[in-house]
Amino acid sequence: MALTQAAERAALNKLIDYLDENPEEHLDSIMALIDRLVPASVFPAQRAAFSHVIKDRSNWYDLIMKVFDLNPEMRSRLLKTLIVDGNILAWPEQEKARERYECNIPWAILLDPTSACNLRCTGCWAAEYGHALNLSYEDIDSIVRQGKELGCHIYIYTGGEPLVRKGDLIRICEAHPDCAFLCFTNATLIDEAFCDEMIRVANFVPAISAEGNEATTDARRGEGTYAKIERAMDLLRERRLPFGISCCWTRANADAVATEENIDWMIDKGALFCWYFHYMPVGSAAGPELIPTPEQREKMYRFVRAMRERKPLFTLDFQNDGEYVGGCIAGGRRYLHINAAGDVEPCVFIHYSNANIHEASLLDALRSPLFMAYHDGQPFNKNHLMPCPMLENPDILPELVAQTGARPTDLIEPETPGQLRDKTAPAARAWKPVAERLWNDENDPMHDKRANDPTQGMADSDLSKFQHLGHRGYQNGL
Ligand code: SF4
Repeated sequence: MALTQAAERAALNKLIDYLDENPEEHLDSIMALIDRLVPASVFPAQRAAFSHVIKDRSNWYDLIMKVFDLNPEMRSRLLKTLIVDGNILAWPEQEKARERYECNIPWAILLDPTSACNLRCTGCWAAEYGHALNLSYEDIDSIVRQGKELGCHIYIYTGGEPLVRKGDLIRICEAHPDCAFLCFTNATLIDEAFCDEMIRVANFVPAISAEGNEATTDARRGEGTYAKIERAMDLLRERRLPFGISCCWTRANADAVATEENIDWMIDKGALFCWYFHYMPVGSAAGPELIPTPEQREKMYRFVRAMRERKPLFTLDFQNDGEYVGGCIAGGRRYLHINAAGDVEPCVFIHYSNANIHEASLLDALRSPLFMAYHDGQPFNKNHLMPCPMLENPDILPELVAQTGARPTDLIEPETPGQLRDKTAPAARAWKPVAERLWNDENDPMHDKRANDPTQGMADSDLSKFQHLGHRGYQNGL
């Protein structure tokens, strides 16, 4: 680390300590101090929003106060890792790497430590897959080291059930105190000892899957599972440890999860964030019947925005919030996914790849044909309510795969992009008029910003944009 960056890091860490001493009193002066230390070009929109929150004393202010009420043994270390190492210092490094290598450089890397799971949920393949596929400790350590070289300090575990490997994951946290590790988990392996480890390492945050009440959870996941999930949340809340919720919404559960009662339950349980994921019919056994209807999706769009206005919970909706991140974030633009076999995929839902981490470096993978096709093609639609090359622009993914020679990487249910398109195309056609109406709604508070958005998108399904891909020279030999 250059001396200037070390000095900047030390100064920013001091600011966190200053805030942590007395957040209520010191919050008002913090943005002026940050402005003196951090160039205006780093996260300008986020800084403006944060200043607004402080001034307004809104529900977001309550959320910030909840963060400063976390366990004092680990709170300031986590904030320093997440805010300073993971974002303020990381972003300029990522920008440099983007310019230098002329490819996407991710803010976060998702990876599957294992394909195995301790539960046998209906409709999930992980239990049947057993313990056959794992990224070793050395694999994960190498991915993190390579990611840090590019400026990436945020790692998110998916699976399988990542906590099947909790010993190794804690070792990784220890080895990389300048990185934050989030983990999607069924929570059933979180116990007192693991909570103690979370306090000790101070850089691990679980996102617990919760998609309904006791009856629906136990019917799908096995008797007693809901009680175990609640027990895990209680353990975390008693120790004032940070955690969030992840919720996959489908045609079957959308109406049940999009309720204020459900949000209040999460807040009561102690969650700080909730990430909603639109159901994706990925894998040959996953049918299109569970894709939410356009009415349900519009309801979720309005619901999440309303809850963000009122509740002290950081709520994100991965399919309806594209406008805050310029559309699709995959292909390394903001994130990528590495499965338990080491295949480097553009997105956790896009199971095609040209690169495997056992044979190629992370940078090679970022410069592989499919990733460069994402780089060149994003955004895939100028209406960010239709961001995805699979779900809302279903003709694009088959074209990307054909042009780049990417191979299927689904671990157990591989399918051709054409088969996937046949499942998503009807839903895309049904959603399009609703997405256009919402996007062009003059009464929407985002309308002016959308109208002036400098993002140079393309008309949907403008496949000519990808015709050159097969001829592009890729220097990495993949
Ligand atoms: S590929 Fe689709 S699901 Fe994945 S990040 Fe892009 S828009 Fe979202």
